[in-house]
Amino acid sequence: MEKIRVRFAPSPTGSPHIGNIRTAVYDWLFRQRHGGSFVVRIEDTDRARFVPTSLDELLDSLRWLGLQWDEGPEVGGEYGPYFQSERLTHYDKLVKQLIEQGDAYYCFCTSERLAEMRKAQEAAKQPTGYDRACVSCSKEDVQSKLAQGIPAVVRFKVPQDGNTSFHDVVRGEITFENRLLDDFVLLKSDGFPTYQFANVVDDHLMEITHIIRGEEWISSTPKHVLIYQAFGWTPPVFAHPPLIFGSDRTKLSKRHGAVAFLDYKERGFLPEAMLNYLTTLGWSDGTDQELFSRDELIEKFTLEGIVNHPVIFDMQKLEWMNGVYIRAADIGLITELCLPYLQKAGLLPANPTPAEMEYASSVIALEKDKLKVLSDVAELTSFFFQDELEFDEKGVGKWLSKEHVPTLLGKLMDKLSALTDFSIEGIDAVVREVGEEMEMSGGQVIHPTRMAVTGRTVGPGLFETISALGQARVVARIKRTLEMLSEMQVG
Ligand code: GLU
Repeated sequence: MEKIRVRFAPSPTGSPHIGNIRTAVYDWLFRQRHGGSFVVRIEDTDRARFVPTSLDELLDSLRWLGLQWDEGPEVGGEYGPYFQSERLTHYDKLVKQLIEQGDAYYCFCTSERLAEMRKAQEAAKQPTGYDRACVSCSKEDVQSKLAQGIPAVVRFKVPQDGNTSFHDVVRGEITFENRLLDDFVLLKSDGFPTYQFANVVDDHLMEITHIIRGEEWISSTPKHVLIYQAFGWTPPVFAHPPLIFGSDRTKLSKRHGAVAFLDYKERGFLPEAMLNYLTTLGWSDGTDQELFSRDELIEKFTLEGIVNHPVIFDMQKLEWMNGVYIRAADIGLITELCLPYLQKAGLLPANPTPAEMEYASSVIALEKDKLKVLSDVAELTSFFFQDELEFDEKGVGKWLSKEHVPTLLGKLMDKLSALTDFSIEGIDAVVREVGEEMEMSGGQVIHPTRMAVTGRTVGPGLFETISALGQARVVARIKRTLEMLSEMQVG
C-alpha cells in the first residue's frame, strides 16, 4: 500500500459541530492504523463567511480528542502553506492552464444578469443553471474586457453530454449525468478560488491519497472528478460517511441536544467517550460491540466499516457511554476534571487546600457512579460543601416533622459526637443502636437522619455520606436541624 495521506479540510466559517469532528476522527484513525500523514488544511477562501474564532475552536476540538495532526497549522510541513488563502498563486497558475487548454473560460456576466436568467428559467419551469453566455467569447473580446477591468469569474467547461462516475468506498459506483452539472465557478471575481477548485488543486498538490468527508459533499464530487480529468490527474480514493440526523430524522440541530463541539467539553463529556461515540456514529466493526478503547478503534477502523445509511445522533446513548467512561476512570482524574465545575458553583475556592481537595475527592467518589456528565457534579454534591442546608420541603413534612424525630436526632448527635471510630462501620453501629433503643424500623431512623445531615431525601449510602462529611460537620448539622425543628414547633 502506498503511503497514506489523509486530510481534514475544514472551512473556518463557524463553530465546528459533531459532523465536522467525526470526519477528523475517521481521518486520524485511518492514519493511526496505516501510518502516513494526517494533514489539516484550512479552507478559508470564502472571505465573506470567515469567522476568526473558528480556527481556534477547530484546533482545540482536535487537541481535546487527542487527534494530533502531522502537517498543518502550527506544525507546518513540506506541503504547506496549509491555509488556502496563502496558496493563491497555485490556483491562479492552474486556472490559467485550464483556460489555455479550453477546459475553462472567463465569464463577465453580472449578478443582475444571472438573477434575471434564473428567474426566467424558473418561470419557464426549466432546470436552473448558467446558460453559457460567455463560453464562446472571442479571445480578443476577453482580453479587452479584462484590460478594462470588468469583473470576471472563471468557469469550468463541463462536457455537455456523457456521464461522470467515481467509486466511493462506502457506496460503490456513483454516476452523474454531465448535462445536469452547471458550468461551475473555479475562480471568483475577488481572485479567490471556489471550494471546488481549491479543494481539488490542494488534494492533488498535497498528494492526498484518501478523501474522507461527509455525504453532503457527494454532489460536488463529479465536479472534482472532471477537474482531475482535465488536468490528467488521478483522483484519490473517496469515502463519504453518512449524514447525521436527530432522533426525529430531521437535520441535526440544537433541539436534539447537538451543540457546538466544544460545548460537549464544557458540559463534561470525556474525550475518550466522545471519540468512541463519534466513531460508532457511522462506523461498525460488524458486531454489536459499542465500547471501544482508543487502541481498539485504531486497530479495527476501516473505511469499509463505514455504514451506508443515515445515522441518528442519540444524546442518551452518548450520556450513557460517558457514564461508563467516568465510572472506569481513576478518581484522581475525575476529581481534577470536576474541580472547575465545583469552583464555578462556588462550592470550592479558586485555590483549594490539599485538605479541601481530599474532601472533594471523597465526596466525588460517592457520586461518581451516578455522573453522566461532569457538570452534574455540582448539583449532586453541593450539600457536602454547603453547611447551610436547603431542606427538601416534602422531605421535611414526611420525615422530619414526626414526633419521634427530636429525640432520635438528639440521641444520634450525642452518640456520634462521642464516637471515636468515625468509620462507616462505627457509624452504622451507632445508628442501629439508636434505632434499637427507640424500637424503630430502619426507615424511621435512616430517612430523618439523612434529611438532618443533607437536607435531601436521596443521596449516596447514608453511612458513607456521614463518614465523608466528617464528625464535626455532621454533629453541627444535626444540631442546626434540631434548632430548626424547635423553632418550627414554637412557630
Ligand atoms: N471545506 C469543506 C468543509 O468545510 C471540506 C469538504 C471536503 O472535505 O472536501 O467541510
